[in-house]
Amino acid sequence: RATNLRRVRAQWETTLALLKPDLLADAARVRAVEQEIGQQFRVQERRQIAWTRAQAEAFYAEHQGRPFFGRLVGYMTSGPFVALALAGPQAVSQWRKTMGGTRPVQMRVRNPASLRARFGLTDTRNSFHGSDSAETARRELAFLFGDSKIGRNWEHASPQAGNLPP
Ligand code: GDP
Ligand code: MG
Repeated sequence: RATNLRRVRAQWETTLALLKPDLLADAARVRAVEQEIGQQFRVQERRQIAWTRAQAEAFYAEHQGRPFFGRLVGYMTSGPFVALALAGPQAVSQWRKTMGGTRPVQMRVRNPASLRARFGLTDTRNSFHGSDSAETARRELAFLFGDSKIGRNWEHASPQAGNLPP
């Protein structure tokens, strides 16, 4: 039991998930997705957000200059979205796996069970975001939740006995 808890602690991570504006437009889909997420992760924070253009550009700064950048920023400022801090063993890679790759149409062939295959619309409007590494997760969680417990104090992301993944 103690060994098991130690192992879970060692792999425990928190990642950032976004339910992007196209998904938010459909409340029933949001409920279905969040129910699935709750079965797999601890939802440590949840916040509905609407970005300014400057905020979207800052969040996606790594993609500045790419041909899809304007569309991406337009999409992410087209309406509200939901930000979730998801915790669990290897949450970063687990959430990327659950979400699927960037292109929904391709995912319908390669990984039809993935969330992007099931809910995504196009390469731009692919319904979900997930941090791509632990370091990215730290930066992105600070961007979205920097004024809350998890943004200020990373240790709150650590599992306690009785706070293990579902
Ligand atoms: P992700 O980590 O799977 O979200 O993909 P990236 O970090 O590479 O890109 C960020 C977001 O930009 C994606 O989720 C898409 O919304 C959009 N995007 C990325 N690549 C493309 C592309 O080739 N075409 C279009 N239209 N959008 C893209
Ligand atoms: Mg990415």
